[in-house]
Amino acid sequence: MIGASDHRAFEELLDRARVFVLVTHLNPDGDAIGSQVGLGRYLQSLGREVRIINQDPTPKELTFLEFDGPAAEAYDPARHDGLLDASDAIVLVDNSAPDRLGRMEAVALARVAKTFCIDHHPTRGTPWAGNIIDTTAAATALLVYELLRERSHTPDRAAADALYAGLATDTGFFRFNSTSARALRVAADLLEQGADPTRCYREVYERNSPAYTRLLGRALAGLVLSDDGRVGTLAVTLAMVDACGAQGVDTSEVTTPVLAVDGVRLAILFRELQGGKVKVSLRSKGAIDVQQLAAEFGGGGHRNASGIVLPGRFEEIVERLTGRARALAADAP
Ligand code: 5GP
Ligand code: MN
Repeated sequence: MIGASDHRAFEELLDRARVFVLVTHLNPDGDAIGSQVGLGRYLQSLGREVRIINQDPTPKELTFLEFDGPAAEAYDPARHDGLLDASDAIVLVDNSAPDRLGRMEAVALARVAKTFCIDHHPTRGTPWAGNIIDTTAAATALLVYELLRERSHTPDRAAADALYAGLATDTGFFRFNSTSARALRVAADLLEQGADPTRCYREVYERNSPAYTRLLGRALAGLVLSDDGRVGTLAVTLAMVDACGAQGVDTSEVTTPVLAVDGVRLAILFRELQGGKVKVSLRSKGAIDVQQLAAEFGGGGHRNASGIVLPGRFEEIVERLTGRARALAADAP
């Protein structure tokens, strides 16, 4: 299944349900939180009860998005399973894959009959009762915005900020190839509704810690290029994170300067995780499809930005993935 459109069923759900729980993928990003806050504020404006419950806490660079009521709550079975049962609807945004729910996978799967999914990632099929999946949409936030407009709703300033943040972060602030006239029209609408693009950029990208910046420097100093110069790889080990005091920070953006190297078509970041796992972030330019590459190893994402989490020895994973990526990039036109 590439796409699915149960629009009518979703409209009915919005009319009927009183208590909503909004959920998303683990390590929520700007599109995940932005979509939740935008949709959540709309539902609240209709007088619905809304809770945002995610497996992971909201990263600090996204806490400027204002949800009216309790902010996104980190999932706690003792506190939340009862609420998930009592709710009329669960809306899963920016992800359709059960395994990307982490510790919330089982609780969501046990409640599929009332779970509705809104997403823009390719999928091979979902277990959810209803799906709006549009892989041509630059962001889930764009889909949420279009749904609200279909219902003649105009987002308030805070919802406009949230949806703008989702759309802007997922398009790399309107530079990835997902940037379309449709995306820019929605962005223009959101600005008219009060979204502040400068503040959004500042909050998301200009609040880094010195420790994070030092870690980026160390990672970049270790850049390795393939012989043909098409693939650039970086590693961030637990020892490097310790040495910089940069525990818990998301480093996937360090791939940006690697892709900026002339001739590089594919950038990979290998990040060592606790517990013998490795997070692989893949970024590409043009026709090189890293989503396919990620899928070969059990991950996923989009054509030009994907990720995988793999168990195994760090050096082995680096070698295997790098070999596969170099072959893919060498064969590319
Ligand atoms: P990042 O490298 O920034 O963590 O992830 C880039 C994109 O790849 C994300 O927006 C998401 O779509 C996807 N992604 C990241 N990690 C995973 C993963 O472990 N599994 C799957 N299916 N997709 C992932
Ligand atoms: Mn997204």
